[in-house]
Amino acid sequence: MTIRTATATINLSALVDNFTAIKLLAPKSKVLAVLKANAYGHGLALIAEALSQITDAFGVARIDEALALRASGITKPIVLLEGFFEAQDLAVLADNNLQTIVHNEQQLNEICNASLIQPLKVWLKIDTGMHRLGIDKQEFPRYYQQLSQSSNVQQPIILMSHLGGADDKSSSATDRQLSLFESITAGKANELSLANSAAICNWPKTHFQWVRPGLLLYGVSPINDLLSNINITPVMTLQSSLIAIRTLAAGETVGYGGAWKSKGKTKIGIIAIGYGDGYPRHAKNGTPVLVNGRRVPLIGRVSMDMITVDLGVNSTDTIGDIATLWGEGLAVEEVASCATTIPYELLCNISRRVKMTIK
Ligand SMILES: *Cc1c(COP(=O)(O)O)cnc(C)c1O
Repeated sequence: MTIRTATATINLSALVDNFTAIKLLAPKSKVLAVLKANAYGHGLALIAEALSQITDAFGVARIDEALALRASGITKPIVLLEGFFEAQDLAVLADNNLQTIVHNEQQLNEICNASLIQPLKVWLKIDTGMHRLGIDKQEFPRYYQQLSQSSNVQQPIILMSHLGGADDKSSSATDRQLSLFESITAGKANELSLANSAAICNWPKTHFQWVRPGLLLYGVSPINDLLSNINITPVMTLQSSLIAIRTLAAGETVGYGGAWKSKGKTKIGIIAIGYGDGYPRHAKNGTPVLVNGRRVPLIGRVSMDMITVDLGVNSTDTIGDIATLWGEGLAVEEVASCATTIPYELLCNISRRVKMTIK
C-alpha cells in the first residue's frame, strides 16, 4: 500500500470550463486572468500554460512572477497589478514586454523620465473609494495628459480601478465606485477595467472592455450567496490519507491542549496533513472532512503534520483511505468559513511540501 500524503490535484479542464463560463457572463469583455501568489496556490506556470491560448492577458503582483511566466515561455501580455517599485525595474519591463499599472507620483515621474528600448503599455489606476492604490479624481487630468504625451508610453493607455465590496450585492459602495469611475473617465475613448470576480458575477455594468477574474477561474465563489448565474467547478482538490485509526473510550481527549473530549466510545482517524501543508490551524472542531465519501468532523487542534477526525464507533475506514480536505465534493468556501477566513487565504497558503499533480 502506498500512503498518499498531502496532495493537491489540479483539474485543468475545470479551469478551462470556468474560463468559458466567465466569457459567457461577460461576452463583450477581454479577460485578464489573475495569477498572483502562485496562481492562488495552484501553480503559476501550470495555470498560465493551460490558459495561454484562451486568455487575453495575465495579471501578477510582483515582477518576479512576471519573469517566471516569461521564462516558462508565456508570450501573452502580462500586467503588473501593483506597478513597478523602482526606476531600475523599468528596463526589465521593457526588455520583457511587461505592462505596468501606474498608481502614484513616483511611478509617473520615473516612467516619463526613463529612457527605454520600447514604450510600455500603461494601465492608469484611479482610486474610486477603496483607498488602497490609485490616484484621486483631481489628479486624473494631469496624469492622463502626461502619460498620453510620453514617448515612453504606448498609446492609448488603459484606465482602471478596483472595487472593495463587490461581493456584497446589498451594499451601495459598488454603485458609488462605479459612478465615480464613469464620471472620471467620461468622454475618454480609452479601454476601461473595473471588475474582479465578485463584480463579474454581481455587477454586469462594471464589465467594460476588460474583466479581471482571479478566484472564479479557480472554481471558487467570491460571494457568500449561492452563485445563480454561473457554473464553476473547483480546480484544486486537496487530499491526504488516514495514517492511524484509534479507538477511544468516553471522556478521552485528543491532541494538543486536549481541546476535544469524546462523549462516548468512538473511532478516530489521524490524517497526514496539517498547518505545515497549509491546512488552517484555526479550523474549528466540526470542520468537515470527506472520508470515503462521507463528511466527518475535525476534532482537536490542527497540528503541523496531522489532523484528527471522528470517524464514528461503527466506521470501517482503514489506514491508507483517502481524505479530502477541500475541492471536489467539499467546497473550500465552507472550510474557510469554519476557520473564520476566506478561501483566497486557504488556497494561496498551500505550502511547498504539498505534492502537486494534474488531473
Ligand atoms: C487580485 C486582483 C483581482 C482578482 O480578484 P478576485 O477577487 O480573485 O477576482 C483583480 N484585480 C486586481 C487589481 C487584483 O489585485
